[in-house]
Amino acid sequence: MERKIETKCIHEGWKPGRGESRQLPIYQSTTFKYDTSEEMGKLFDLEAEGYFYTRLQNPTNDAVAAKICALEGGVAAMLTSSGQAANFYAIFNLCSAGDHFIAASSIYGGTFNLFNVTMKRMGIDCTFIDQDLPEEELEKYFKPNTKAVFGETITNPTLSILDFEKFVRLAHSHGVPLIVDNTFATPINCRPFEWGADIVTHSTTKYMDGHGIGVGGCIVDSGNFDWMANAEKFPGLTTPDDSYHGLIYAERFGKGAYITKATAQLMRDLGSTQSPQNAFYLNNGLESLHLRMKRHCENALAVAQFLEKHEKVAWVNYPGLESNKYYALAKKYLPDGSCGVLSFGIKGGRDISIKFMDKLQLASIVTHVADSKTCLLHPASHTHRQLTDEQLKEAGIAPDLIRFSVGVENVDDIIADLQQAFEQI
Ligand SMILES: *Cc1c(COP(=O)(O)O)cnc(C)c1O
Repeated sequence: MERKIETKCIHEGWKPGRGESRQLPIYQSTTFKYDTSEEMGKLFDLEAEGYFYTRLQNPTNDAVAAKICALEGGVAAMLTSSGQAANFYAIFNLCSAGDHFIAASSIYGGTFNLFNVTMKRMGIDCTFIDQDLPEEELEKYFKPNTKAVFGETITNPTLSILDFEKFVRLAHSHGVPLIVDNTFATPINCRPFEWGADIVTHSTTKYMDGHGIGVGGCIVDSGNFDWMANAEKFPGLTTPDDSYHGLIYAERFGKGAYITKATAQLMRDLGSTQSPQNAFYLNNGLESLHLRMKRHCENALAVAQFLEKHEKVAWVNYPGLESNKYYALAKKYLPDGSCGVLSFGIKGGRDISIKFMDKLQLASIVTHVADSKTCLLHPASHTHRQLTDEQLKEAGIAPDLIRFSVGVENVDDIIADLQQAFEQI
């Protein structure tokens, strides 16, 4: 019988043999020893499997990647130094200068900049689309050089829910994979591969780590996308790689082709490796992910319901509320809960919101979301402070929007903190 996801959080990844360390060891080493020069040569030609340099692979990192791979139900995975690196590699592994891809416009701001500015400078063009448009409208954005479609299960911070069935049909009918950033949902609440997505990325910095300790990322491949069937679109996977004596990834590595290429080529040349120490911390976080996500979701729903009833609150955005635009999609794709992040506005606008935030005692003001401690941020006066109210509206962020990340404290204390702050404004 296949084990349940809670058990996988604890037992997948590192599997010690007789007399070996029960806990995941930290292989704090840049290099790995071999007996003959020929053995080492085979590793460099990808003819043998093994570790040789931590920039490419490290046993601690691989054990943690294997755990996340098992949680998502994929066939291969790799860790990266950050979520940004994961999303960059996920696209750059498929797109070169002259190529195009499609991304939902309400994705995380850091990813938006990466796609809209930095990757454009590399000659890779991205069209941003409104993910709620009907399928026939979205069809129009595909071009002959389109190589991928990208979205987030739950967008940060606008909390839109991706309609997987629609996006899988769109991507596959154009012979390209659907890449999904599953950071906010985590595999506890949604497993995009079960809905047909092809590649999943994570900022492990958020719930997976869960304690605000280490920046990190991960890419997982479902192994389901047939690169050879769409060979002309993906020459990087289906034609010889000169930097490995003409090896063809899709032929040699089959379902492991995508991650092998990203490791052997992109990690080798760009080097956004996670440190084994951080991978160790991440593994600790993953062991309690199933417990924490449950509590984050219960607490966030209670806080959202409290805010919705409060007379000083102008609006609340949480997909778990029946009044929410995405309630039906959330029920379908995230039946056990969405995440612990919600947003709301206070009647009176920007200045009142700032005053309110300064009165909070338990919740702390930090540039972070999705960890065990309740925290919040006011984009208009922090991440987006250069923008006028008009520009904020264009970016889809209300001037009064408070992004509130509900932690795993006792929810009565979180609500009491909000209540006392409301009483002072
Ligand atoms: C934070 C975040 C990222 C970026 O991850 P870092 O680990 O900060 O580089 C990407 N996607 C989403 C959805 C995020 O929340």
